[in-house]
Amino acid sequence: MSNERPRASARDDEYEIVVVEHGSLVSTRTSAFLNFVDYAEPDEAFDFSYYFWVVRNAHRTVVVDTGFSRAGAEARKRTVLADPRTVFAELGLQPDMQTTVVISHAHYDHIGNLDYFTEADVVVAQAEYDFWRSPQSQHAQLRHFVDQIDIDTLESVAAEGRLRTVGERTQIAPGIDVIPGPGHTPGELMVLVQTNVGPILLTADAVHFDEELERDMPFRHMCSLTDSYDTYAVVKGLLASGEAAQFVAGHEPSVMSRFENRAGDLEHTVTIGRRSRDATRPASSTRPQEREVHA
Ligand SMILES: [Zn+2]
Repeated sequence: MSNERPRASARDDEYEIVVVEHGSLVSTRTSAFLNFVDYAEPDEAFDFSYYFWVVRNAHRTVVVDTGFSRAGAEARKRTVLADPRTVFAELGLQPDMQTTVVISHAHYDHIGNLDYFTEADVVVAQAEYDFWRSPQSQHAQLRHFVDQIDIDTLESVAAEGRLRTVGERTQIAPGIDVIPGPGHTPGELMVLVQTNVGPILLTADAVHFDEELERDMPFRHMCSLTDSYDTYAVVKGLLASGEAAQFVAGHEPSVMSRFENRAGDLEHTVTIGRRSRDATRPASSTRPQEREVHA
């Protein structure tokens, strides 16, 4: 493990994004899109991919979502392509790493394994944290996608003083903003990341599939349809203004063919952007700087 500082030339505010596809589901268009019958189109097979994202440069690592737990996936019959905990280790992410984890929303497939990171600061929307601890969240249609054990983990993180809640667009590190995208859940967060191929908007489940945005076809499960339409407008606005060069949807299978696998040829990953040469060492070697960043 090296304690070398990154070269002065290594940019602080530009990242590579490692996209990890850890699960999949063969489904149907009827199961993917809200009131699909209204479109008068034939139902067809439709694939879901399950992702989390690791945003990193020579200075810091930010983990966006922690995937589903094995129990959460098995309970809902999802195919596990890779155990996120194994992938974290393969990417050099140690459990006691003093890093930042952004939880886009508290659904089982985005927050499972949060307990892997015992020292991380955790960023979540205040609206999300409040909602899943409210009586209204107990309705079966909403609760189906949440495991209480994950909400308990969030509360433990809060009790340990590691929870950072946000209410509006917030820069959480140089070159990384979280942006509210409510609708699918009340406190869904998107993450805008500066890379050397332009700013990338990780929509998580504010937009599940490319088609959802491009054909204005909301996902089947929404807490608020009108909020989702507002969020689509926010995403389109970011793309139109150039503030986002492209969006990466939260369950879109084609993401895996749109980018290359450059994370050490790790299976089930593709990489967006490129790190400086300094940052090609294992991520664990950046830990001394991580400590400094969070000091
Ligand atoms: Zn999801």
